[in-house]
Amino acid sequence: MALLDGKDLAKTIRKKVKEQTAEFTKQWGRLPTLHVILVGEDPASEIYVRNKGRACKKAGIEFHEHKLTADTPADKLLTLVKSLSNNNAVDGILVQMPLPDHLPADAVIAAIDPRKDVDGFHPVNLGNLITGKANLVPCTPLGCMKLLEEADVSLKGKNAVVVGRSTIVGKPMALMLLEKHATVTVCHSKTEKLAHIVAEADVVVAATGQPELIKGEWIKKGAAVLDVGINRMEDGTLLGDVEFHTAAVRAAWISPVPGGVGPMTIACLISNTVKAGNARLGAANASRSA
Ligand code: NDP
Repeated sequence: MALLDGKDLAKTIRKKVKEQTAEFTKQWGRLPTLHVILVGEDPASEIYVRNKGRACKKAGIEFHEHKLTADTPADKLLTLVKSLSNNNAVDGILVQMPLPDHLPADAVIAAIDPRKDVDGFHPVNLGNLITGKANLVPCTPLGCMKLLEEADVSLKGKNAVVVGRSTIVGKPMALMLLEKHATVTVCHSKTEKLAHIVAEADVVVAATGQPELIKGEWIKKGAAVLDVGINRMEDGTLLGDVEFHTAAVRAAWISPVPGGVGPMTIACLISNTVKAGNARLGAANASRSA
């Protein structure tokens, strides 16, 4: 069994992004810039935002955090998103999810300039993914694809099973696997005979938020297993959505929790930020000289 080591690959990606940042600065005369909006005081979100800020700083990306109180009205949030969208010095915009219930998440995402949507959640970017013209794609499934690619896991014609159908992980993951010619099945909480479906999979991606839902004995011998789940248990430990030790005996590749998909998500975010800035500024330059 080989470990799909996200920590290691993320380090390589972060190093590459640092080089791209230096190039960016040379070409455009300023640092690439990411703006993150955090509404409320959810402790997990605060940790995620802090980690994103650290990764940006290490890679030479300018990072701005906009902290808004939990009772922020929708129009105030939308005004901020629109002003960042219209600001030429902003390359990436990320609104940390989940938002408090009174705020319209879909409208907020739709207000982000799709060229600055480094999370890849804007309908334009999700639409591009569906039509095979992906540009900015969601960071977690992108990180999973990079782990599979790095390990040279064959996808063409293989059975891939994605467990979970969220817009941020499961659905885009399924589309990316399909784009690489896998035969994809998407499972969810209403799926019948989950164990049987998983047992047929050459590639399993678990993104349910249900600790150890996927049993090791379900895994086909030689399969690749990506565990997206991050479940904090009462004793403080982190568990994935896959029963790691029993699955590792059967899998040919498996990602651990922590140290698998998690670090890849942040590495892909900073990579998307530089990519978004280069694409937007490059297109503006090209249209000026045309
Ligand atoms: P959501 O809660 O949005 O979606 C969970 C999905 O799992 C749903 O589609 C749900 O089905 C499905 N599901 C729930 N229970 C079962 C079950 N018993 N059997 C089959 N399917 C089930 O979660 P996210 O997609 O946002 O996140 C999933 C996990 O990944 C979480 O643990 C989250 O913390 C983690 N995560 C990790 C990231 C990382 O960087 N590593 C980034 C993002 C998320 P239904 O649609 O029917 O409700």
